[in-house]
Amino acid sequence: MDHQDCIFCRIIAGTIPSEKVFEDDRLVVIKDIAPKAPVHLLVLPKAHHPTLNEAASDPVLLGAMLACAARMAREQGIAEKGYRTVVNVNQWGGQVVFHLHLHILGGKPLTF
Ligand code: 5GP
Ligand code: ZN
Repeated sequence: MDHQDCIFCRIIAGTIPSEKVFEDDRLVVIKDIAPKAPVHLLVLPKAHHPTLNEAASDPVLLGAMLACAARMAREQGIAEKGYRTVVNVNQWGGQVVFHLHLHILGGKPLTF
């Protein structure tokens, strides 16, 4: 589902530019516009789920997102040293963009 007012739906549709590093039938992976680590990627499902809460009904998708993150980490050369995956949920979780996404952070020791 394409949500006109959703920035990540627009990125997935290509109407807002982004640096895409991977795409398949369900997922798009982009570079974060304001990276908080040397490697900072976002795994976006093409389907619009506002938060993880709404996507819980699709565990296959959630599994695909994590598997994709591991693959991206390997391709980016951060798998061996280590990295972090994060899903921020709603206000107290620090979510800013309400289209489910998985952060991949790595390339330096993560102390925060
Ligand atoms: P949240 O806090 O919602 O988990 O994180 C949203 C992330 O999306 C932030 O790290 C932010 O830098 C990133 N972001 C916001 N707008 C854009 C954009 O237009 N393009 C890209 N590539 N990343 C974005
Ligand atoms: Zn969306």
